[in-house]
Amino acid sequence: MLQNEDKDLNEICEECKKEDESVTQNLIVHGYKICDSCKLSKTIFPI
Ligand SMILES: [Zn+2]
Repeated sequence: MLQNEDKDLNEICEECKKEDESVTQNLIVHGYKICDSCKLSKTIFPI
């Protein structure tokens, strides 16, 4: 059950604080803990 809680936490986007399964994928692929929407924003407007 603790693993499930960790998994849920890892799916919280650090930018918009929304839970999305893409957050985990982006963390693995890009190293950013963000959802696809925020990733798109960063791609268009890089900080
Ligand atoms: Zn986001």
